[in-house]
Amino acid sequence: MIVPDRFKDQRVAILGLGRSGRSVALSLLKAGAHVFAWDDQESARDAAREQGLPIMDLDSLAWEGINCLILSPGIPHHYPAPHPLVAQARAAGLSPISDLEILWQSQPQARYIGITGTNGKSTTTTLIGHIIKESQLPVEVGGNLGIPVLDLNPLNETGIYVLEVSSYQLETSPSLHFNVSVLLNITPDHLERHGGMEGYIAAKKLIYKNSSPQDTFVVSVDDPHCLAIYETLKSSGKINLLPISTYKTLLDGIYVKEGVLYEKSHPVLNLKVFDRLKGQHNWQNVTATYGALRSMGFEEEVIVRGIASFPGLAHRQQRITSYKNVTFVNDSKATNADAAAKALTCYQDSRLYWLLGGRPKEGGITTLKPYFPSVEHVFLYGEAASSFHVTLEGRVPYTICKTLEEATEKATKLALDDQKANSVVLLSPACASFDQFRDFEARGDAFCQHVQEMIRLEQKKA
Ligand code: ADP
Repeated sequence: MIVPDRFKDQRVAILGLGRSGRSVALSLLKAGAHVFAWDDQESARDAAREQGLPIMDLDSLAWEGINCLILSPGIPHHYPAPHPLVAQARAAGLSPISDLEILWQSQPQARYIGITGTNGKSTTTTLIGHIIKESQLPVEVGGNLGIPVLDLNPLNETGIYVLEVSSYQLETSPSLHFNVSVLLNITPDHLERHGGMEGYIAAKKLIYKNSSPQDTFVVSVDDPHCLAIYETLKSSGKINLLPISTYKTLLDGIYVKEGVLYEKSHPVLNLKVFDRLKGQHNWQNVTATYGALRSMGFEEEVIVRGIASFPGLAHRQQRITSYKNVTFVNDSKATNADAAAKALTCYQDSRLYWLLGGRPKEGGITTLKPYFPSVEHVFLYGEAASSFHVTLEGRVPYTICKTLEEATEKATKLALDDQKANSVVLLSPACASFDQFRDFEARGDAFCQHVQEMIRLEQKKA
């Protein structure tokens, strides 16, 4: 645990008591701060009370006497409207900050790698962390991927924090400084929280805002938004840039050509052999990883060895099991259309039984139409059913289901009955999970359970 001593005797308000909020509260109490913690959800308050945290309705707080407001990333501080308590704090001159800001302020001696982007953050963060760990250097991995940063251990100047950073966390971490920052990609997501695409891009650009000439900004040049950022920075000459691409040859960067990773035209590694980093999207994560670690001074061989031993991540195109002609794949983390497109691309040569649904995102699934020809049948469930069926109608066979459980059952039965070779039952929902689940992990775990249960029943029948 990080104990940020500078908070001793400070009066600190904490809004949001999910995992990271509770972690902040525990750290600050240990540091000797006076903590005033609140969450609008009773269940979160109960969880905090169970950990012995003091709860106080911040509505009755005299903000003038408060030194700092720490805000959970899930709580709006700007768009669509600031949470009323954030507005009150602002009126008293307080700007909300994140736990990442506190980590940086209390551990400035360490080195930092920050990873952001719309998709691929967790994979890249975990892969970078894995490679550093394998190299025997001290490393701590956390942030947006679910490990609160104040739960990490302190590091000295040889150690490296590898942090996954969301756009919300960037907006509330004004002094956070990365020695190497990574921007993977930008596609529309969370637009309601940023007042539109421009606001979302502006938030992502904060990843390099404190970079000095000794630091490196690793940036993809594959999507138009990232390319525009790269080109503007290149002409300014103020920042050390390392471009990455999965389809353009970059003589000054890291790129992939025909499945081979290149560093400035020197071939490094054939990526096609790594099943756990399958698909062009994962190659993007590998180029970013390679670029970030080379910028930190890691040897080529060390990085290559680490890529080869990477075990992969749960809920990201995770192969659960196979039964008869059917393979089951859990891609619950695909919470938007762009992420689902990546999975659909990887399984284009298979017969796909696709589980789709949840709470829909802006833009829906219209961008996924080109993938429909490789889909045998869609099982559409949850809140999205009422709007997504319009996009599916007449283009691909589909069945509307109430729950993920029903969808899993129907998809498994159809895939087994069809007896077509190379069938895949794929959960890649292209939606948020919150209509029926706590989070994408709970959704993925439920899917894995339903699959095991279905197979057990089928085996019993056989
Ligand atoms: P994040 O942490 O940004 O949400 P993850 O690594 O958890 O990203 O992957 C989330 C989803 O996005 C997965 O379903 C995966 O298939 C897809 N994905 C992974 N890397 C990329 C990428 N570089 N570009 C687009 N999609 C990706």
